[in-house]
Amino acid sequence: MAIYCRNCGRPLADDARFCPGCGTPVYSPTPYPASVSRLVRPRAGRMIAGVCQGLANAYAWDVVWVRVITVLLAVFGGGAGLLAYIIFWIVMPEEPLMVPPPAPFEPPR
Ligand SMILES: [Zn+2]
Repeated sequence: MAIYCRNCGRPLADDARFCPGCGTPVYSPTPYPASVSRLVRPRAGRMIAGVCQGLANAYAWDVVWVRVITVLLAVFGGGAGLLAYIIFWIVMPEEPLMVPPPAPFEPPR
């Protein structure tokens, strides 16, 4: 069964949860297997390292609240938010880069 991005119409892998083209979450009727980590730092929508965006994507949270809580913890939590952010930054893999094949290079005349 093929699924398509509801935002840009790009065909997606059966187990895709996010469109590789535009980053739109894909709501699959089958639950994502727990063995595969979706906790990645997305390349789209990031502000610093993509930690908040990645957490929001993985758990379908609102990224604004993730950022607000992180900042509040960083400011009022004795650096807990900052420390958590740095730890997530280190342990969360970066989203695989999915780019179309490069266009043939044409030297300027
Ligand atoms: Zn898309």
